[in-house]
Amino acid sequence: AEVQPVLAIRGLTSHYGRIQALRGIDLEVRAGELVALVGANGAGKTTLMRTISGLQPASGGQILFDGVDITRERADRRVVRGISQSPEGRQVFGPLSIEDNLLLGAFLHARDKVGVAADLEKVYARFPILKEKRRLPAGTLSGGQQQMLAIGRALMARPKLLLLDEPSMGLAPLLVEEIFAVVRELRGQGMTIFLVEQNAAAALSIADTGYVIETGEIVLSDAGPRLLENERVKEAYLGM
Ligand code: ATP
Repeated sequence: AEVQPVLAIRGLTSHYGRIQALRGIDLEVRAGELVALVGANGAGKTTLMRTISGLQPASGGQILFDGVDITRERADRRVVRGISQSPEGRQVFGPLSIEDNLLLGAFLHARDKVGVAADLEKVYARFPILKEKRRLPAGTLSGGQQQMLAIGRALMARPKLLLLDEPSMGLAPLLVEEIFAVVRELRGQGMTIFLVEQNAAAALSIADTGYVIETGEIVLSDAGPRLLENERVKEAYLGM
């Protein structure tokens, strides 16, 4: 029998007033899979991400998580279920220390002090710079380091599904490589990841499955590396 997907989206629509941002999205993420959604500015990537995390209402269609319909569920309930988002633009708490930012991600497990301490060490092992600077305000970190902090904070929630919204945005090429290396590593450790990116080349090259979104609709989907070979993708997203 086919394994039930962790995330299944069926005919999902979303509106901003009269503007329709999502026009019937169908998409699946299976356990242990890295799925990348690529598309141009304004195509609806962030809206889809926020609809999954519950920060933006759906106007129609369905979102199933572990087979349960969560379409109308509040965002905080979805976090409890194991959906954890590292938001676009990072949104770390600048005046708080790096460590306190990470601990915020663990608020659901606050009673499990030993487990949280172990999780913290795992994040520090993955991002040694965060350990080095753990007592400093998060606002003192560079853009790339803040991105690492945002991912680390999302991991502290012990997600079953990790949502990454444009983790490479605004980063220098070397840091982009570093961030994608981390994403690939998480995937290698069995994490289920839904990645939204404008950097189509980098995202599709590491994705098990890729989707292309244009004006609120999925226009293509295939294995990530296969999409990289697609003529339409090459022309529209890879500048070839
Ligand atoms: P970006 O890479 O710039 O974040 P995106 O692919 O994530 O782009 P969205 O931000 O999801 O695209 O936007 C999808 C559509 O919805 C666009 O046409 C955008 O103008 C519109 N939109 C987004 N946010 C709002 C809002 N708060 N009010 C009205 N329209 C919005």
